[in-house]
Amino acid sequence: MSKNMKELLIMITGDYVVRDSNSRIPDPNANSVLIRNGRVLAIGDSKQLESEFGVDVFYEQPNTIIAPGLVNTHTHSVQSLLKGIADDKSLLDWLKDAILPGEATFTSEEVFVSSLIGYMDLLSHGTTFANDMLTVNYSDKGINAADMIGIRVKVGKMLMDMGEGIPLKLIQDTDEAIEESYHLIDRWHLKSSLIEYSVNPRFLVTCSEKLMRKASEIVSSDPTLSYHTHANENLEEIRLVKKLHGMNYIDALREYGFLGSKSIIAHGVWLSEHEKYLLSSTNTAVSHNPSSNCKLASGISDWLSLKNRGIRVGLATDGAPCNNTMDMFREMRLASFLQKVSKLDETVTSAVEIFDMATYQGAVALNHPELGKIRPNSPADIVVIDISSPSHFPLHDLISHLVYRASGSEVLMTFVNGELVYDRFRKNPFVKLPSSVISHAINIANRYALDKPWKTRDPN
Ligand SMILES: [Zn+2]
Repeated sequence: MSKNMKELLIMITGDYVVRDSNSRIPDPNANSVLIRNGRVLAIGDSKQLESEFGVDVFYEQPNTIIAPGLVNTHTHSVQSLLKGIADDKSLLDWLKDAILPGEATFTSEEVFVSSLIGYMDLLSHGTTFANDMLTVNYSDKGINAADMIGIRVKVGKMLMDMGEGIPLKLIQDTDEAIEESYHLIDRWHLKSSLIEYSVNPRFLVTCSEKLMRKASEIVSSDPTLSYHTHANENLEEIRLVKKLHGMNYIDALREYGFLGSKSIIAHGVWLSEHEKYLLSSTNTAVSHNPSSNCKLASGISDWLSLKNRGIRVGLATDGAPCNNTMDMFREMRLASFLQKVSKLDETVTSAVEIFDMATYQGAVALNHPELGKIRPNSPADIVVIDISSPSHFPLHDLISHLVYRASGSEVLMTFVNGELVYDRFRKNPFVKLPSSVISHAINIANRYALDKPWKTRDPN
């Protein structure tokens, strides 16, 4: 009798396997990972694994490193159509002049396409698990895109109910926003093993106290729901929040019920000692976004001081328009360099610490400690990285190599939950998507840029 697809023994073979941030020395006896039922069964030499277990499906890719998929703790896949329209601006101008008017113009089809392009960017650059904020409207379409392409996500609609100078289409009635959130939770939360719902108030500049308190009620109603917002990214934003809410940022988040072990704030660039204490004492996680913080000139986050207080810190790209890619390999390199140069101390962090932050620590920050490493019984979220170029040699230290030399564009294959979802050598690289969907997405994206430039649209 033929085996059920899930029962099939799948083997990925390359040259070396990086199990986690401790896999620095290339191990000549471990070139393969064996997968069954979406989980890692064993790691070892291909011939030995084959004779011990038998193999049904082979993915053999010479001149590669097999590594854990990267965990991206803060993204906006849906902003992908706005990439390249908002360079050289600071956070609040970037939002008000370009990003919010852009999001307001999106049709439901554009939300689908923009999110899909974002997920393609993530998977093709090695991210297997993303913590993703959509926009206010048509979030169902964005989650549908994640479901179709097969990426692992925490994802949810963007909550906004106020804000000066913000397109009316993005300011939703508070009760309506909450009701829609419940509908999306019913429809998507844990309906597949890859999709979890996350409640996402944008930030305190666009969220009323009422909205924040009601959002907190949703999160407390179910222990499996997550909470995700932006905070303390930019000094002007912090001043505005104090004016609007009469409190320091993190004090306000505590007052509204946001802080806690299911919550993650994106950025946390400017935090007082008191605010760091609040994050640490409530076990709230922080997402570090080095490229976004540089491009928007927000500042350099002292994430090491957060980590030293026991705060869970993960790495992230943020959305495409403030980056302009979602390549976590670039973030690893930059996260290390920024700490070293800002403290004038080259020893302050290491490739090992950075790789851990981009994989396992990110998974821990998102309350999924079973992810981020390749080890027996862990879900098989795996990337295969090309090292065929002579510039990849010698390989003294695989972790140093992945952090400082490798690039997301060298990712050849991406597996999520043991399933191949990206294969650069195929005509249709996003394996689960029909090629007609990919060409349709590219057509819509081109049309968005050429026929209907965002500047000429009426956001209301
Ligand atoms: Zn963001």
